Amino acid sequence: MKDLKLLEKLSLTLGIPGREHRVRKLILDEIKGTFDKVSVDPMGSIIAVRQPRPAKGKTAPRKPKRVMLAAHMDQIGFMISHVTDEGLAYIAPFGGFDVRNLFARVVTVCPDPSNPAKDLCAILNPGVKPLHIAPVEDRQKVPSLSDFVLDFGLPAKDVHKRVKIGDMVVINAPVTYLGENISGQAMDNRVACWIAIEACRKLRHHDYEVHCVFTVQEEVGLRGATAASHTVAPDIAIGIDTTLAVDTPGVAKQEQCTTLGGGAAVTIADSSAIGDYDLIETFTRTAKKNKIPYQRSILTRGGTDTGGMQRTAGGCRAMTLSCPTRYIHTVTEMVNSKDLRACRDLLAKVIEDL
Ligand SMILES: [Zn+2]
Repeated sequence: MKDLKLLEKLSLTLGIPGREHRVRKLILDEIKGTFDKVSVDPMGSIIAVRQPRPAKGKTAPRKPKRVMLAAHMDQIGFMISHVTDEGLAYIAPFGGFDVRNLFARVVTVCPDPSNPAKDLCAILNPGVKPLHIAPVEDRQKVPSLSDFVLDFGLPAKDVHKRVKIGDMVVINAPVTYLGENISGQAMDNRVACWIAIEACRKLRHHDYEVHCVFTVQEEVGLRGATAASHTVAPDIAIGIDTTLAVDTPGVAKQEQCTTLGGGAAVTIADSSAIGDYDLIETFTRTAKKNKIPYQRSILTRGGTDTGGMQRTAGGCRAMTLSCPTRYIHTVTEMVNSKDLRACRDLLAKVIEDL
């Protein structure tokens, strides 16, 4: 699992929509030498370009076509929305957490998105009566996010000095290795950052210009990818993201979407985009030819950066390559190392064959 150390680092680096500063810095450091040109666009997405590398004896096309890869850097989280006179704080969501997963959490509050030295901890709990004194009917209810409060354990004046509206809030969660799986937070979508980086590192010969884009603000509506695709103007766009693997008890087979460990998921469609038919054929043919495990999947609810890229300007041929993920949108998202490597290898092979 040595090759997953970068994924571990990515999972433990905090960055919600609009506050991707630390993830961006980590990726910029990591991709040095892999691309010919790296820039950051006005919204904060990284656009890393590799010129064509024609095979021996072949000349590079004069006007190469462009393939755009999109891997979003942001994770779901919160911002502080109000600080009370007593020094407690309320939060607003950025991306969809299930409230049932938010009880009794230690969180990190980041007053400066670029400077972890200013971070502080808090306890997240709903402001409701504990079990010992709650009436029976209260125990059945699920509080709403607006009931949740941050307790810093600090005097109010200290809280007011250090914390303000708009500060990033992220739940603390470790990375855990379980057999051939890895679990942690923000696997959605740091796995795609890992897949994009590692696939581009593997590239040898390719005729397309590769624009590898690490996007911002996907979790709030594919915003960074939409903007960046105007800049890139791709002929082909490939969104890389997690997808549901609900191959767990209590879910019918027809609803499981993908199987963990079942290989790279070629997403036929989700609610943001229907994948380009020929591109899907290319992916499946390449997987078969190279004996890379893959599975086909449809996600009926949920979108990816593909939806943003596909409809830019005159439109482009687009599809999504997905990594099966259990417990998605929790801080224990679990992915399988074989699926990760299958996504990496399949992506690299397809780009080389374009
Ligand atoms: Zn995602």
